[in-house]
Amino acid sequence: MSESVWERDLLIPERNKLEETLKTDVCIIGAGLAGILTGYMLWEAGLDTVILEADRIGSGQTRGTTAKITSQHGLIYSKLLKNFGKAGVWQYADANEAAINAYEKIIQKEHIHCDFLRCASYLYTTKSPEILEAEAKAARLGGISAELTQNTELPMDIEAALKFPNQAMFHPLKFLKALSEPLRIYENSKVLKVTGQKVETETGRVWAKHIVFACHFPFINVPGCYFMKMYQERSYVLAVQNATIFKNYYYGIDDDGLSFRSDGKNLLIGGGNHRTGAKPVDSRYKLHREILERFWPDCSIAACWSAQDCMTPDGIPYIGRFSKKTPNWYVATGFGKWGMTNSMVSSKIITDMILGQAEIQKDVFYPRREVCLSAIGGYVKNSFHLLTDFSKYILPHNNKTCPHMGCPLTWNPEEGTYECPCHGSRFDSEGRLLAGPAQKDLSVK
Ligand SMILES: Cc1cc2nc3c(=O)[nH]c(=O)nc-3n(C[C@H](O)[C@H](O)[C@H](O)COP(=O)(O)OP(=O)(O)OC[C@H]3O[C@@H](n4cnc5c(N)ncnc54)[C@H](O)[C@@H]3O)c2cc1C
Repeated sequence: MSESVWERDLLIPERNKLEETLKTDVCIIGAGLAGILTGYMLWEAGLDTVILEADRIGSGQTRGTTAKITSQHGLIYSKLLKNFGKAGVWQYADANEAAINAYEKIIQKEHIHCDFLRCASYLYTTKSPEILEAEAKAARLGGISAELTQNTELPMDIEAALKFPNQAMFHPLKFLKALSEPLRIYENSKVLKVTGQKVETETGRVWAKHIVFACHFPFINVPGCYFMKMYQERSYVLAVQNATIFKNYYYGIDDDGLSFRSDGKNLLIGGGNHRTGAKPVDSRYKLHREILERFWPDCSIAACWSAQDCMTPDGIPYIGRFSKKTPNWYVATGFGKWGMTNSMVSSKIITDMILGQAEIQKDVFYPRREVCLSAIGGYVKNSFHLLTDFSKYILPHNNKTCPHMGCPLTWNPEEGTYECPCHGSRFDSEGRLLAGPAQKDLSVK
């Protein structure tokens, strides 16, 4: 990933490496948005908390986000209605709407200057409006004032748009910088092993009553088996100058749909989604370039970058106890490219569980939830991918293999990276690890 607009001119002060043995109430693995928000809530509740970060604060996928703080997560409410009924729609909408307000409250309370703005979020289609009509009905069951309209700031002709009012956006790294200030964080401290209450890095260890995996894709395979029920998807962002500055943001639901948000100076255009490790057919920026030529031919490209997120078969994150066998471990993952509000939701659920304020978990986010009939397709598709990609390991092949579980890697020429099609680990051309679940570099001969 090259530099995102958020990383420019923003230095988060460096923290020490862990080089001692500590005892604490809670150890959080990962200082992205999910880890820092959880750390902040536990710190506010008075718990002694240590955060261990493999690299730098915010250096994971959070630096590549487009930072739309919204409860409008694609066509999630139609899916929820099918899989979990009205109660599921209500829980998800309620938790994610509350998350938007929670951001505003924290930002006001801590006087954080992070360009937080209220605005509306829209889904749009240039095809038949029926899918959006169904999504509007489902979202209203969750108490959201979803409104169908054709009135948007978009330059192209659309068939329909679905508006959620009173959503928000911000600068994610300005927020992380301020929120992380009072927290005890160790950087360049990759966790290599977790057993019971012990968390080990190369140069130190932490004994903790509770351990939170906020490390994006959990790197421990068993227990939990998250490698069987998640994959990663990449998306590509162009930031352009001299294009329209939108007040609200937009997400296209068609196959060739793009997302649009402005950051005050630039228009950020996102798209080109694919399963990490999938072989490219065209440039991942093809759709972005086409739209620029059509509507903003005089614009100039200010930045381009890509990032990836963990996808679950039913589209709902896994938030709660890591596994049946590890009652003091917690997980926050599978945000499906909607990690701004879902990080807030996970920090609230996990903090309540640690404080003993949560009922036995029965919500839609439960990591060991049953596979719903209509989500089985997603599980089967993912298992098929895993089997075909893994079989290439058993059959003769010339590829480099992933140190996580041995899947043959593919080369992404646009990014200059090796990528794992099974679970989404990434390595640079020299074999250095860029993203997990793999935890080791690649040996490139
Ligand atoms: C292109 C793109 C655009 C997006 N736009 C939006 C958006 O507009 N709105 C929205 O809601 N969501 C969006 N998302 C999703 C959102 O960015 C992510 O869900 C979110 O940033 C994930 O945060 P995280 O804290 O879980 O992960 P990360 O930010 O990746 O943090 C995990 C941290 O754990 C660390 N780590 C990993 N392994 C270890 C280890 N062994 N020891 C110690 N530390 C470790 C990593 O270094 C990393 O810093 C987008 C995603 C993409 C790909």
